[in-house]
Amino acid sequence: MEPRPEELIPELSVWNRPLKYGRYLSEKQIQILQKDLEIFTLGDLFRHFPFRYEDRTVITEIRHVHLGLTSVQIKGEFIKFENAGEGKARRLVGTFADPSGTIEVVWFQKIDSLRKILKVKQPYLVYGRLNHFNGKTSFTHPEVEVFNPNEKRSGLEPVYSTTETLKRFGLDSKGLSRIIEWNITAFSKEIIEPFPDLKIKAWTMIPLPIAIKEIHKPTSASLLAQSQNRLKMEELFPLQFFMLRKKKLNHEVSVGHYMPKLQVFNQFYESVLPFALTNAQKRVLKEIRSDLVSGKQMNRLVQGDVGSGKTIVALMAMLMAHDNGYQSCLMAPTEILANQHFFSIEKLAQAIGLQIALLTGSTKTSERKKIAENLENGSLHILIGTHAVIEDKVRFQNLGLSVIDEQHRFGVAQRARLHNKNPDSHPPHILVMTATPIPRTLAMALYSDLDISKIDELPAGRKEIQTVHRTESRRLPVFQFIREEIQKGRQAYIVYPMIEESETLDLNNLMEGFESISRAFPEYPLSMVHGKMKPSDKDFEMARFVNGETKIMVATTVIEVGVNVPNASIMLIENSERFGLTQMHQLRGRVGRGEYQSYCILMTGPKLSREGKIRIETLCRTSNGFEIAETDLKLRGPGDIMGTKQSGIADLKLTNLAEDGDLLEFIKQITQTIIEEDPNLENPQFQLLKSHLADISKQKIYWNNIS
Ligand code: ADP
Ligand code: MG
Repeated sequence: MEPRPEELIPELSVWNRPLKYGRYLSEKQIQILQKDLEIFTLGDLFRHFPFRYEDRTVITEIRHVHLGLTSVQIKGEFIKFENAGEGKARRLVGTFADPSGTIEVVWFQKIDSLRKILKVKQPYLVYGRLNHFNGKTSFTHPEVEVFNPNEKRSGLEPVYSTTETLKRFGLDSKGLSRIIEWNITAFSKEIIEPFPDLKIKAWTMIPLPIAIKEIHKPTSASLLAQSQNRLKMEELFPLQFFMLRKKKLNHEVSVGHYMPKLQVFNQFYESVLPFALTNAQKRVLKEIRSDLVSGKQMNRLVQGDVGSGKTIVALMAMLMAHDNGYQSCLMAPTEILANQHFFSIEKLAQAIGLQIALLTGSTKTSERKKIAENLENGSLHILIGTHAVIEDKVRFQNLGLSVIDEQHRFGVAQRARLHNKNPDSHPPHILVMTATPIPRTLAMALYSDLDISKIDELPAGRKEIQTVHRTESRRLPVFQFIREEIQKGRQAYIVYPMIEESETLDLNNLMEGFESISRAFPEYPLSMVHGKMKPSDKDFEMARFVNGETKIMVATTVIEVGVNVPNASIMLIENSERFGLTQMHQLRGRVGRGEYQSYCILMTGPKLSREGKIRIETLCRTSNGFEIAETDLKLRGPGDIMGTKQSGIADLKLTNLAEDGDLLEFIKQITQTIIEEDPNLENPQFQLLKSHLADISKQKIYWNNIS
């Protein structure tokens, strides 16, 4: 007798056991399953979930069949078969009848074999999509099966993705369904619930073995939904567990620089700060302060919409470090932004006698040397710059705090380099700032290891930016409007799309735009900035715009982040159908930074895709960055959003981060309680869970990629 597979390789759980230990599969089928669907193990097979379900209880009368129906099932008999057409049009046409009428069923392939198999005057079920062919409504290549009055038909018939090759070897959707069902039955003893029964009951989850059966052969819609939830938990729990556990361990072992003293901070707050902080800013500063006196290393993400005033929060956090004898650095993703941070902070820093310096790619060698010296001897308190700041050459005497502005531009590796900046001491506290609002679910899924603060309030007195959509036909009035604003003393941005793959094309686009705008506004000096310019030229142009010499800034998205020109009141986005939602929201944030009513004008061609329309409507309707981010997530899915690729959450099969926020929240909670209870899963009740997680970590190592 053939040895049982589990005796052969007892160390592999059913989830990780190679497909060849499965049942009812030929070697050829196994090969193709691997090649076409990347199904290598029984676990992969069990997790090849149906992508939809069909109602096969409904039988439609032929007289009611029309093209408007997506898929239709009819019952009847073939009355005749005919060969028709020549060459490519060669086809088999069956005439199918029920008591209400007849309809044609057409095949272009396997004509000869079908002709042998199909019989007239025998009851069949025909199921498929309708076509319009040769002036008639017909079925093309539908599913055809002999009608069996004793077979129970389901309202939730699973449909699996498959391939032509698999179909040729008997694994069409039906075939796959059978194979999966048989294997689930064959290995049912080994498909066990890894969580303790009591917990599963308390959470009102259905046990994994039932969930696996149900998702492939649902008995009811509500059980199916519960099964999907249980299986989403399979997808989400491991990542949450590893991240939350890592966070807990970090907290336990990481020693953070202790920063209890406040002195210059208070002086700044009382007599230098040019405005009152918003409540949200105060709250976030308190959160930061409590991290800095906790004795643990801070890893905090501050999210705040454009203009919410993150820079001042960063500066004040750096003052806290300074008051305790530590240096700080602030990293920005672009040179322009680093410059701007430097100049705005320099003004304030002078008032309190702080030494700051700017380090970017274009800093001169002599200046670099001076900076390096002063950093190492400790006379320089704050270093502001671009990536240049984290180069290994740059050594601090005592780096206590690193602020990373607009974090989505920074990779995980760069964060890690910051960690290593103090080889002889603890890593610096880390504060990450982003104006890209991360949807709640994504933040939960991605940044469970960071603490999150939100500045969810704009400084008082800001006027809401008015956003409108205009098509080419209204260009003249749009230009006239810009002219009037400039006459009032304002400035305008005109932005062109810049997409990396086609930089030259976009550059042409920008140049043409620049020319046409020069012609339209001959009376005003213009600036132009784009990514292909030398940093020094960029800065020169930017500076001219900042101090009002030029009235219109024609640019690509390089101005997207951070740049602050309070006098600018118009943001005109050209070809706005080519921009992402979040990106346009960022661009819009460049205006409305001063006391003036500001406007964002979204120009498009006359035709818009459905998604393009939604993007534009969303922007015209709301300026809430979080709402915009949620919509963006719904439109694009998490895969396209920065930072998700490495994390593995882009391969979630069942979970939809745009919709499953509540479930994710729940899973995060229960994960947290398990980690509090038993972070190493040593308790006997968690033994199954522990080995289940170990199994999963053999399949995927995605948490290794997370910072
Ligand atoms: P962001 O969050 O987009 O980085 P900034 O830090 O650049 O925003 O702040 C935008 C503008 O708002 C700056 O000119 C800043 O001085 C100003 N600002 C920040 N906080 C306040 C406040 N509490 N009251 C008034 N103005 C503020
Ligand atoms: Mg900013």
